[in-house]
This record gives sequence, structure tokens and C-alpha cells, in this order.
Amino acid sequence: MQYPEPIAKLIDSYTKLPGIGIKTATRLAFYTIDMPEEEVTSFAQSLISAKRDLQFCSICGNLTETDPCVICSDKNRDQSQVLVVAEVKDLMAIENTGEYRGLYHVLHGVLSPLEGKGPDDINIESLVNRLQKDETIQEVIVATNANAEGEATAMYLSRLLKPAGLKVSRLATGLSVGSDIDYADQITLIKAVEGRTQL
Ligand SMILES: [Zn+2]
Repeated sequence: MQYPEPIAKLIDSYTKLPGIGIKTATRLAFYTIDMPEEEVTSFAQSLISAKRDLQFCSICGNLTETDPCVICSDKNRDQSQVLVVAEVKDLMAIENTGEYRGLYHVLHGVLSPLEGKGPDDINIESLVNRLQKDETIQEVIVATNANAEGEATAMYLSRLLKPAGLKVSRLATGLSVGSDIDYADQITLIKAVEGRTQL
């Protein structure tokens, strides 16, 4: 006995999400069928709109509805600092502290020799191009996570950018080793940005 095709397809769709196996997908599919129709419609629309109405900022790589993003377009921000993060969620975590007033650059990953991820696989070239074109940028603050890959990425950027006369700094180690920026509390993040150390 097989499920009717609409539910089989829904189960199949859920299994495409990370960490969702067939059992969970089946449970979610049946849950969806029990939801009120307007909730399902709104859920489906938010999936489509998240994909259709969002793009990556052509300057910093942030997720945005407009290009450039609101941060890159905000001339009141400190144009001399660029804080480099691995993922958009890290940018959000730092932005939510309300303390950092500079610009960002999102790498969309970190260097990971084990996973075969090199400099060409993350958003480094656009950072270099940006720094070459924009002479108001004086300091690059590398805010990758405090694990081996995050450190390797920070060291790589430091070696790459310092010869160009840029100040390159790293978030202070108030963030304990192995801790993730997007899970750190706000006070820790504020202190980490304030107490950054030069690389
Ligand atoms: Zn931007």
C-alpha cells in the first residue's frame, strides 16, 4: 500500500531539508494535512517569497530584498570598517547587538581543507576587489567562529590583506574556543568587537 501521490510528494519534499529523515518527513506531511488551509497557503507563500524576493547584496553578500542592501546603502554607517563573517546569521547576530556601526562582508563559508573548500569557494575575491576599489576602508575585522576553520580563514585573510596596508583585526577571545557567533549572547559579542586584537 502506497501513500496517495500528493502526500508521497510532500514527504519527499520534506526529506530534502537538512536533518529530516523519512520518519520525520512523514510526520510533518501528516501534520501539514491537518493544518487549516489558510495556514498551509501562507506557509507555502513564505517559502516561495523567501526564494523569489531575496537575493545576495552585490557588495557585501548579505541577504536582501534590494541591491545594494540597507547596510551598504546607509551612508551614516562607518565606511572605514568592514566586519567579515562566515554566514548571514552571524551578521544578524552582530547587527542585533546594535553596537557595531561599520559595514560587513559575508563569506558564505570558511576555508576548510578537509572539506576541500579553498579561497575560490568562498566570497573572498569580491572582498579583495571591494577593498581595492574602496579606499575609505581602513580596517577589516574578521569575525569568523573561534574554531580551527574560522582561525585558518582569519589567518589567510590577514596574510592576504595586511600587505595592502589594511589594519586586520580579529574578534577578542571573549568568545570561547569553539563557540559560535550566532549563539553568543549580546554582551559577549559587544565585548568581542570592542576588544578585538590586531592580527
Ligand atoms: Zn550589502
